[in-house]
Amino acid sequence: MDFGQDTLEVCGLTLAGVTRGGIATSLRVPELGLLFDVGVPTAGQLRCERILVSHGHQDHLGGLPYLLSQRHLARKKPADVHVPAEIVDPLTRIFEAWAEIEDFRMDVRLHGTKPGDVVSVGKGMEALALRSVHRVPSLAWLVRRTTRRLKPEFAGRAPQELQAMRRDGDPITEEHVEPLLCVTGDTKIELFDAEPLVRQAKVLVHEVTSWDDRRDVEHTRSWGHTHIDEVLARVEQFEGEALVLVHRSARHSRAQALKVIADRFPAAVRDKIHVFGR
Ligand SMILES: [Zn+2]
Repeated sequence: MDFGQDTLEVCGLTLAGVTRGGIATSLRVPELGLLFDVGVPTAGQLRCERILVSHGHQDHLGGLPYLLSQRHLARKKPADVHVPAEIVDPLTRIFEAWAEIEDFRMDVRLHGTKPGDVVSVGKGMEALALRSVHRVPSLAWLVRRTTRRLKPEFAGRAPQELQAMRRDGDPITEEHVEPLLCVTGDTKIELFDAEPLVRQAKVLVHEVTSWDDRRDVEHTRSWGHTHIDEVLARVEQFEGEALVLVHRSARHSRAQALKVIADRFPAAVRDKIHVFGR
C-alpha cells in the first residue's frame, strides 16, 4: 500500500515518514532521534530510541508491537515509548498477548504521560506534553531547546570587557528557551487556540484532515479533526517559521492541497506553509 511517504527539510530538521488521515501516521525526525507515532513500519524507525505517541488510534499506534518485535530481532536496546497515561494498561495487555503468541517478551520502557509532563530527549532538549483535543485521550508534543545566550543589554560589548565581567562573577548570559518543534497529532483546532507554545513553535506540524466541504467544519470537528478553513482563519496568529500541514485525508490529493494554499492563503504567510505527504 502506498502511504504517500515523504521527506521535508525545514529549519534544520528533517521530517520523514507518512501522515495520511485515517490510514497511517509515523513521522521521524532524525536530528532529534525521535519518532512521532508509529502507525506503520517506515524506513529508519529502528534507529529511533524514543517514540512520542499522540494517541491510541491504530493508524497512529498499530505499528508499535511490530516495531518492538523488530527491535528484539535486531538486538536493539529497549525503546522508550511515551504514551497518554490512559492507555498504559490496555497497551500492556496487548504486549502480554503478543508475548504469548510470539513466545518472547517485548522489551520496552513504556511511560504513561500526562499533559504538562516533560521528557528529556537529550542534546539540551526536552519534550513537553500538551493536551490536544481528540475523541480519545491525546497529547501534542512540543520539543524545546534551552541554551544560554548573552543578555541583550551586553550586545556589542568588546570580548575583553565581557571576559572581565565574567571573571568578576557578573552574570552576562541568561537562559533562552526556544520552542523548536510542535507535533500536534490528531486534534481539533482548540489546541492551537489554547496553547501559546503551539503558535510560537519554530516548526509547527499541524494536522489538517479536511481540505474542502465534502466534509465541512462541523463534520470534521465531530471526528476530532481540523478543517483547512479553521487554519485559514488563524494562520496570521502563527509566530513560527514553518507551518507543516499533515494528515490529509485520502479524499484530497497533494495537488489539491497546494492549490488551496495558493488560492486562499494570504501571500504574506504562504511561504511559511508546507504540505507534507505525497
Ligand atoms: Zn485519531
